[in-house]
Amino acid sequence: MTPFTGQLEPLITAAAGAILLWVLGARLTANTRFELGRGRYAGAFPFLGAFIGAGLAGGVFTQQSFQALAAGAILLAIIGFLRDRQRFSYLTLLPWGALIIITSLFAATDAATSSIFVISATLWAILIIVCLKIAALVYEMPFILLTTSALTQFIYFSQHQFTQSAVLVNLALLTSSVLMLIYSTGGRRVLTGSSGIFTAGFLLAAVSLLEGSGQLLLFGLFVPSMVILFPFTLISAMIVASYFGNRLHHGTSRERIYSWSLRREKTVLFAGLFFLCLNFLALLVLIDAPTPAYFALFLLFVISLFVFVSTFARKDASNNTQVPRQIEILGIAIDAVLPADVIERIASYLQQTSPASESAADASATARSSTDGSSLFHIVTADSLALVRAGEETRFKSAMQRAALVVPDGAGVVWAADFLGTPLPGRVPGVALVSQICEAAGKNGWKIFFLGGKAGIAEHAANTLNKEHSINICGIEHGYFAPDSEEEEAVLERIARAKPDIIFVALGVPRQEYFIARLRNCLKRGVAVGVGGSFDVISQTLPRAPYWMQRFAIEWLFRLWLEPRRFMRMLGIPAFVLQILRHKWNTENS
Ligand code: UDP
Repeated sequence: MTPFTGQLEPLITAAAGAILLWVLGARLTANTRFELGRGRYAGAFPFLGAFIGAGLAGGVFTQQSFQALAAGAILLAIIGFLRDRQRFSYLTLLPWGALIIITSLFAATDAATSSIFVISATLWAILIIVCLKIAALVYEMPFILLTTSALTQFIYFSQHQFTQSAVLVNLALLTSSVLMLIYSTGGRRVLTGSSGIFTAGFLLAAVSLLEGSGQLLLFGLFVPSMVILFPFTLISAMIVASYFGNRLHHGTSRERIYSWSLRREKTVLFAGLFFLCLNFLALLVLIDAPTPAYFALFLLFVISLFVFVSTFARKDASNNTQVPRQIEILGIAIDAVLPADVIERIASYLQQTSPASESAADASATARSSTDGSSLFHIVTADSLALVRAGEETRFKSAMQRAALVVPDGAGVVWAADFLGTPLPGRVPGVALVSQICEAAGKNGWKIFFLGGKAGIAEHAANTLNKEHSINICGIEHGYFAPDSEEEEAVLERIARAKPDIIFVALGVPRQEYFIARLRNCLKRGVAVGVGGSFDVISQTLPRAPYWMQRFAIEWLFRLWLEPRRFMRMLGIPAFVLQILRHKWNTENS
């Protein structure tokens, strides 16, 4: 007997159930606010509909295993729904989700006799749910994953003994996912939501457990793990590829945009073929397939490769390769400037606000906003972590928006600009900028104030720069004083008295930005640059990453090695990559 015999009826009822519940769900949630992005919310409705439909036709609702799965799926759908309504954080939901998974899997499986089984089965289900959650970065991706997994499992079942419940659940997953995929053709988006992901992930995990096959478990693990790795490996591959022909850092913007012109539809197609190849490879190994089957798989792989090449390598003719004055990344306007442009701007700010200048107001007009009447120009050196922070802290975001210049400091920002199709001319690394400003200051006689770092560090950095560029230093202060303290007032006063043309503020992000905002009240002209940990590097307290690491955009790894305490902050880098990916793939014109 094959699992396909007599499965037509459950197939039809599963499809009918999926459509019915989805339509019903859409009506019920018509006035519900979801903040999941643009698209139509599906949640767990189609999965539950297909599950109930297949179960009714298969006559298995009286079986304890099926009832337990239904109870688990419905409860997870409900807590996922609450999450979709932003009512609970994942942290709050985790123990409840785990409890539901443990009890329902325990009730559904005969094998659930040992605590080891219960723990591993729960972790297994949570892992699959996490995999689907990451796949949901691209709206249709969970459906692709579920379709390919369910499809290959069907073929696998036909070669083995199988439980009827497992086949019916698999059928339900396959039907609902395929329906959602069909719906989403033509650019319509379906939002799975946590509700759909919790439910589908739980059911997928249950199928592999009900089959009780260690091989199947492994096979299931392999594919979802690929989904976790997919966005990150893809980006790493792209960054590496950009050094072979696309030259991320040295090419012109026209050349750089070459590799980033990928569209969501193509990405989804590529991912689908990629997952299918992996699924089938595992399947062929498991069922001990004959050689022609491997040949067919090879052909599929070649097609995937072709899609890959046409997706990532071909230039999109519609790209506008003219570099605009400013580009936007995650809601922050970044100035498309090179270090030489920054120096030019500084010179012009200082010239226009010099005491001899007739109108300081004219100079204010050249900055993006100097609404408070101060002509202190704030330059922000923004890296990817700063952009993530701006999304989380309104105060920091508005400090960035008020700045005269926001320069791209970091390969992550340059990568994101390229990836979003609005390339920047290049990087403006903070450390190099400090040195270049000092060089210009030496020539023009600008007065410089050094603020920040531990005692002695600013002095050391200032002396190093003075030796190289003979600069006019008008003040040096360490940066260890409490915000809004009397000591800070005293520092502000000393800076005001020193009247610097340029002040480097090295207090770290976002403190330095807040300090500069305060400085506007007492310093009416000049340029303030937030320079983070630059003094540590210039004074050689912290060595700069080797050149090859800078080239391969892994300077952050070097800093992590030197300062392991930065680890928590570094977690913002994958968050940045994920936010950019999400934005690219899911915004209207991507
Ligand atoms: N720093 C400071 N005062 C403080 C905290 C930090 O002067 O209260 C200095 C710190 O010594 C370092 C610089 O700010 O030289 C930047 O710190 P970090 O490297 O943590 O920030 P990032 O470079 O990421 O902005």
